[in-house]
Amino acid sequence: MTMTATPSLDGGPSKRIVVIGGGVIGVCAASWLLRDGHAVTIVEPGEIGNGASYGNAGCFNPSSVVPMSMPGNLSKVPGWLLDPLGPLSIRWPYLPTIAPWLIRFVRSGTPEKVAAQAEALGHLLRDSVGVYRPLVANAGAEVLVRQDGHLMVYPTRADFEADALAWKLRRDNGIAFTVIEDGALWQQEPALSRSYRLGVFFPDNGHTINPNRFVGALADAFLRDGGKIIRAAAQGFELEGAALRGVRTDVGLLPCNAAIIATGAHSKRFAQQLGDSIPLDTERGYHIVIPSCENMPRVPIMDTSGKFVATPMEGGLRIAGTVEFAGLDAKPDWKRAHKLLTLGQRLFPGLAMPKTEDAAVWMGFRPSMPDSLPVIGPSRLSADVIYAFGHGHVGMAGGAQTGLLVADLIAGRTPRIPIAAFSPRRFG
Ligand SMILES: Cc1cc2nc3c(=O)[nH]c(=O)nc-3n(C[C@H](O)[C@H](O)[C@H](O)COP(=O)(O)OP(=O)(O)OC[C@H]3O[C@@H](n4cnc5c(N)ncnc54)[C@H](O)[C@@H]3O)c2cc1C
Repeated sequence: MTMTATPSLDGGPSKRIVVIGGGVIGVCAASWLLRDGHAVTIVEPGEIGNGASYGNAGCFNPSSVVPMSMPGNLSKVPGWLLDPLGPLSIRWPYLPTIAPWLIRFVRSGTPEKVAAQAEALGHLLRDSVGVYRPLVANAGAEVLVRQDGHLMVYPTRADFEADALAWKLRRDNGIAFTVIEDGALWQQEPALSRSYRLGVFFPDNGHTINPNRFVGALADAFLRDGGKIIRAAAQGFELEGAALRGVRTDVGLLPCNAAIIATGAHSKRFAQQLGDSIPLDTERGYHIVIPSCENMPRVPIMDTSGKFVATPMEGGLRIAGTVEFAGLDAKPDWKRAHKLLTLGQRLFPGLAMPKTEDAAVWMGFRPSMPDSLPVIGPSRLSADVIYAFGHGHVGMAGGAQTGLLVADLIAGRTPRIPIAAFSPRRFG
């Protein structure tokens, strides 16, 4: 790809842009911005794609329109917390810090609000695999992407019916699915436990067989096409009035006239510097990988009771999930990753239990907003700085579309989908 204009610090159609953060969101934003003819540099202190974008379940799911905070969830929390295999845990010393976030989370779970959130997510996640396609083709990364569908499984039809509102939200937002029961389900996924009697199949969902390699491939194409990646940690901004003059990093000032904050769960302090108080926190998640797994499922399977996903990946079967509130500094609790193995065996009774040392475990920081919606839009102090963070459980699915929205905002184009729901100012 060739650059179409010489970037100029005086502004003009082509800009000099620093993208802060090399996760899926930063790499996608940088890739689309480069295609628009800007001079783009990603600033990342670690390896590309080694944050939350490393160890997720890899799903590109348009069906993930259902917000995390749903009416009635609060009554389930005590049960989840008491169950040693439950999907939720809180490190109690972190409770005073997370309490305001939790209050907002609960308040965002009214029927009216979840309908609006699902509609916004519907726009963001629609045709997730298709929106990625130009980037994937340019990177020659087709081999890393599947679009074979996705299965959610329930023990009984009554469990499925208890989720009626979630299914209404999916239907209202045009998500295609089919319900399959008993024999038909077990025929489709022979390894599945017979304790799961109802499945819902989403034909349009996709996944990557290696999220880290996927983000890395997009970043390699970005470099090949003229983008730059600098290994550095951003620290702050040089502003002249509302005009951005540069991004301060631990290796010096990077002159630029636009910047994108794509630092995932680490974005709050940058927003604070730019005059925005944004209730971003982290839902820590874990995975465990069963290498050389026999009886792999054909497609990613979500266990709705355990709230985890088992995804067939190139390194084995990755079982990913759980939510732990403990902030960015506490050490991982590897027991939570190992519990995923027990849950995986409940889903697939034939699963051979690997030796602990053979199963790779991982913990990562979902960048989570209490209303399950990302923050995409300009900062308060400078319209030259665009936020693109807070994607919670759907950053992989929404990465390419978020990058396009960022490119629209930088170009001054009308965003291709409605973005008012993602406004940084929605919290007052
Ligand atoms: C267990 C689990 C399963 C998941 N499954 C799915 C799924 O199946 N589908 C889906 O869509 N989503 C899933 N997610 C969510 C998804 O992983 C995240 O939403 C997504 O990876 C967030 O991407 P990001 O680029 O915003 O953040 P990250 O990938 O965390 O990237 C942020 C980057 O910013 C960098 N950074 C931090 N500070 C600085 C600084 N000062 N200067 C420069 N750079 C900095 C970090 O090093 C990091 O590389 C899952 C998450 C978890 C934890």
